[in-house]
Amino acid sequence: MQMWAVVENGQPLEPLEVATPIPMGTEVLIKVTHCGVCHSDLHFWEGEYNLGYGKRLSLADRGVQLPRAPGHEIVGTVVAVGPDAEGVEVGDQRIVFPWIGCGQCDRCRAGDDNMCTKLAVIGVVRHGGFSSHVLVPHWRYLVDPEGVDPAVAATYACSGITVLAAIRKLGRIDPDSAVLLIGAGGLGHSAVAMLRAHGHRHIIVVDADDSKRRSVLKAGAATFIDGKRDDLVEEINRAAGGPVLHAIDFVNNTTTANAAFNSLGRGGTLVLIGLGGGELDVPLASMVFTPRTVIGSSTGTVQDLREVVKLAKSGKLLPIPIHPMSRDDANDALELLRKGAVDGRIVLETK
Ligand SMILES: [Zn+2]
Ligand SMILES: [Zn+2]
Repeated sequence: MQMWAVVENGQPLEPLEVATPIPMGTEVLIKVTHCGVCHSDLHFWEGEYNLGYGKRLSLADRGVQLPRAPGHEIVGTVVAVGPDAEGVEVGDQRIVFPWIGCGQCDRCRAGDDNMCTKLAVIGVVRHGGFSSHVLVPHWRYLVDPEGVDPAVAATYACSGITVLAAIRKLGRIDPDSAVLLIGAGGLGHSAVAMLRAHGHRHIIVVDADDSKRRSVLKAGAATFIDGKRDDLVEEINRAAGGPVLHAIDFVNNTTTANAAFNSLGRGGTLVLIGLGGGELDVPLASMVFTPRTVIGSSTGTVQDLREVVKLAKSGKLLPIPIHPMSRDDANDALELLRKGAVDGRIVLETK
């Protein structure tokens, strides 16, 4: 199989050819047709995360070995199945759930693979969708896109389920209560679409790139705010008509998380999603005077993926803007994402 792989962190991906695996046991071999390009792919390419307080986490320290093909928003066609694989046949189109756990622990057995401490994520620990083929360890990680546009369905494997899980953590939201979203990339756009699908009307989006204003408003946000403003917190509160009760930060760096936190009112909840990194200042007494909740959230479950597909099939969940590119242009795709120039999602396609 052919792939565009990270051979050295921060250096251009290189084309590699390795033996195409033969599925054993419960495994299924997928020929990749679509793969979304996510911010996590950028972090994987760069090889480290900003943990705040001057600390950095390297993927090498976590046992990730190179070369490795990134890509975890995958749709493809089943081309071979192991003898114990059930429910799929050669020729079936499937979304690949990439957050693969150990399969043995309590979290995995409860279906919360994404909370497993021994994650073997496709596109991080296993070769991902920047490759012609992906070997999926178990057929239960495959979800039928049920006729949804495969380029859009691919994005559900990460951005779709991440957004669904984050919105759930916000708790009950009145349809006219303001919801603050920071970041208008793939996740921000998915969140606008999903909040609209759930009947929410008062969506405020903040992004440092003012050129995303038009598409975000077109997608159904009520207000777009330029994230570079000096009076960002005041402007958010003006747009919300007061302190915010529901916020999700898809960027999650020192600037954005503090702005989102400081815009919250009594009983407000902030869900942190992005991997921008840095620190959040939490003055402790003020957490009592103005009680607030800050929650981290990481992707979602296979069941969440099925629910997102169901929502899309019902016609309520509108597709996010998709920018198709060839897999052979994977390096250009990562560069565009690094510049913050992607309004929606780049999806690598193979004919
Ligand atoms: Zn992702
Ligand atoms: Zn596990």
